[in-house]
Amino acid sequence: MKNSEFRFPGLSKELIDLMQKAACKAKIHRLALVGGAVRDWLIHQEDPNRIANTPDLDFVVQGSATAFAEALVQELLPERIQTYRLHSSFDTVELQIDGLKIDLATARKEEYKSPGENPRVFETELEKDLERRDFTINAIAVELPKGNILDLHQGQRALLSKELFFLHSKSIAEDPTRIYRGARYAARLGFRLSSEAFEQLNSTLVTWPWSWKIGNPPEFAPPALSTRLRKELELLFKNEPWNLSIKYLQEWGALRLLDEGLQSDYSCLRRLHWSIRLGLPTLPALIIGASNPLSLAARLQLPQSQQNLLSQSLDLESFLLKSEVEHDCLNWSPVRWCQELEDQKWSPEAVALLACKGHKVWHYLIRWWGRWRHIRPSVSASELIKKGWEPGPKLGKEIQRLRWDYMEKEKIK
Ligand code: ATP
Ligand code: MG
Repeated sequence: MKNSEFRFPGLSKELIDLMQKAACKAKIHRLALVGGAVRDWLIHQEDPNRIANTPDLDFVVQGSATAFAEALVQELLPERIQTYRLHSSFDTVELQIDGLKIDLATARKEEYKSPGENPRVFETELEKDLERRDFTINAIAVELPKGNILDLHQGQRALLSKELFFLHSKSIAEDPTRIYRGARYAARLGFRLSSEAFEQLNSTLVTWPWSWKIGNPPEFAPPALSTRLRKELELLFKNEPWNLSIKYLQEWGALRLLDEGLQSDYSCLRRLHWSIRLGLPTLPALIIGASNPLSLAARLQLPQSQQNLLSQSLDLESFLLKSEVEHDCLNWSPVRWCQELEDQKWSPEAVALLACKGHKVWHYLIRWWGRWRHIRPSVSASELIKKGWEPGPKLGKEIQRLRWDYMEKEKIK
C-alpha cells in the first residue's frame, strides 16, 4: 500500500501511514474504516452543521486483525498506546492510541445456529463483512489508502432519506438487539425506521422465532434477549436522548421484547424522568413497570445490587397493599411513616423508586426520602455519651425516640 493522501477527522496522516506500513508487514491486503465514524463523516459532509462525532473508529481488515494490531504497535512508542486488548474468539482488538479509540476486526461473516444466540464467525472478504451489519447506514466502508467509498447496500441513499434499513430479512430474528440499536440511532440522528424494517419487526414479533419465550426460566434466555440487550439499554441511557429512544421503542412495539407490561406502560417515561432526577439507576426504574420485574431483571442479568433494589421496592409495594395498611396509611403521621419505613429497613433508594413508580402514597414516600429521614434530634449521640450513655443499640433507640419527639413537637410535615 502506498502512502495516503486520504484525510479523516481525528486520524492523523502519520497514523494512517503507520497503519498502512503495519498492514503491509502483516500481509493485510485490504484495510477499511466502517461503521459509525464513516456514517457520521458522511452526514457531516452533507450537512456541516452536524458534528462529525468520532468517539471510536472501527476498522475492518481482510486478514488477521491480531497480526495487524501486533505489527501496528511495533511501529509505535509504548507511551502512545493506552489500551491494547485482544478478543481472540472474534479476532478483534481494542486499541487506544494517542487517546483515540480504535477497534480492529477481521472481516467476518456470521452464522446463527439458532436465532438470538451468539453467531459462529468465519473469516471472509470485506464485501461479505458488510452484509452482516445492522443497518445499511452502518455498512459503508472507506478503503485505505485512497479513501474510496464502498457502499454496496445504498447506505448513502438511506443517509439522505434519513431511514434505517436492515441488511436482510432475518436481521431482527438473528439479533433482536439491533432494533434497540435502531432506536438509539433514530433518536440521536433524527432518522426513522423504514417501512420494510418496521414490517420485519412486526412479523418477527408475531412469529417469535426464538426458542426461549417470556415466562420461561430467565437463565435460559439467549444472549441477544438477555445480556446483550442489557448492554444496548445501558448505552441507550448513557449516550443517547434516552426519552426519545424509549418512546420510539414503545411506538414500534419493540418493548415487547422485554415484557408485555412495559410495552403498554405509558407512565414509563415519567417514571424514568423522576428516577434520573433522584439519582436512581435507570434500568431498575424502567423494569419496575414490567409485568414480572424480577424475572426480567434476572434475564438481563442486572447487577445484584439493582436486583435487590427492585425486590425491596416490590416488597414495600406489597406491604402498602396489605388490607390493614392500604387505607390506614393515608392517615399516618410523619413519625408513623418514619417508624414503618425505618423499622422494616427498606433502603432509601427502594422507597424513592416506588415513589417514582407513582404509587398512590408517593408524596409521603418522597417526603420521607427527601426530608423526614434526614431530621436529627436536638441532642446528638456524642452529647448523650457525655451525659453517661453507653454507645450501642440502646443509645440508638434513644436517639430515634428523641428524633420522633422532636418531629412531633416541631409539627414537622
Ligand atoms: P456509535 O456512534 O454508537 O459508536 P457505531 O455504528 O459505530 O455507532 P458500534 O457499536 O461502535 O456502533 O459498532 C460498530 C459497527 O459494528 C456498527 O456500525 C455496525 O456496523 C456493527 N455492529 C455493531 N453491533 C452490531 C449488531 N448487533 N449487529 C450487526 N452489526 C453490528
Ligand atoms: Mg463505533
